[in-house]
Amino acid sequence: MDEPVLQLEKGDEAGSRLRRALPMPGWQAPLSLMLGIAAGLLLLAAFPAGGRGEALVTMAMPESRSMAMPRISAGRAGNAAPLVVIDAGHGGFDPGATGPSGLAEKDVVLPIALALRERLLELGAVRVALTREGDRFLPLEERVALAESLEPDLFVSIHADSAPVEEARGANVYVLSPRASDAEAMALARDFNAADGAADTGDAALGDVEAVLAELARRETTLGSARIADRLESRIRAAMPVHGRFRRGANLVVLRSARMPSILFEAGYISNAEDAARIGSEAGREAIVDAMAGAITAGLLAVDR
Ligand SMILES: [Zn+2]
Repeated sequence: MDEPVLQLEKGDEAGSRLRRALPMPGWQAPLSLMLGIAAGLLLLAAFPAGGRGEALVTMAMPESRSMAMPRISAGRAGNAAPLVVIDAGHGGFDPGATGPSGLAEKDVVLPIALALRERLLELGAVRVALTREGDRFLPLEERVALAESLEPDLFVSIHADSAPVEEARGANVYVLSPRASDAEAMALARDFNAADGAADTGDAALGDVEAVLAELARRETTLGSARIADRLESRIRAAMPVHGRFRRGANLVVLRSARMPSILFEAGYISNAEDAARIGSEAGREAIVDAMAGAITAGLLAVDR
């Protein structure tokens, strides 16, 4: 399924924000070309020169390529309501983790993201946009750039974990931290950041993360992600198993924006048969979505602004 292409009324505004966000001169080129170039630059950043990277950059830069701007749904929340950008992990040629029954992470996180949008709109307090609404690949940096261009109040990336041991199960939430909170979080960051060829081990960008955290603190947005994570913990613990300590820290590319509070939710372990059945089922999805929508709404309404 393809996603809606650039919506001019919203897209133009978002597109100009995106252009401001990128290190580019203010060329007066047609919007589609600008966005094509922006996508190319992001891909160049994601895939630095080198065998595999060069091939991917060439492939991804046809003239007609334009970055599909996320559509914002307001429902009855109205246009001034806080905005949440939901990011369903992986997609397209990147299946993410694969479960014992062949269940792919990209296919379980998308229905969760779509259902979360519906639930948030039902609650009626926030506006919602999705980085992807279909089965398509988006580099990690592009997910962040798309979200930043909309200047959201919260960015939520949804994933499912996997572990070499079948027993590992339960949900987790990750917030940005220069150093991983534990060995598993460190391994997750390594695999995660390398997933689309970004060749980013996390440690290389340690100073960057400290700068991002300082900027987030200045904007009081780390407080924002902590507030959501806290509210999420009580709701998730009441509704499903949790893996180890619920809240973990890691240096993940998708959490590294200085411009928006960001969290990454791991819905469960796709490598565990019970978890895979839970997160792949409608009842399991509803439990996740109810907990997340409640936590996000409560957390964002508490923001003093
Ligand atoms: Zn993932």
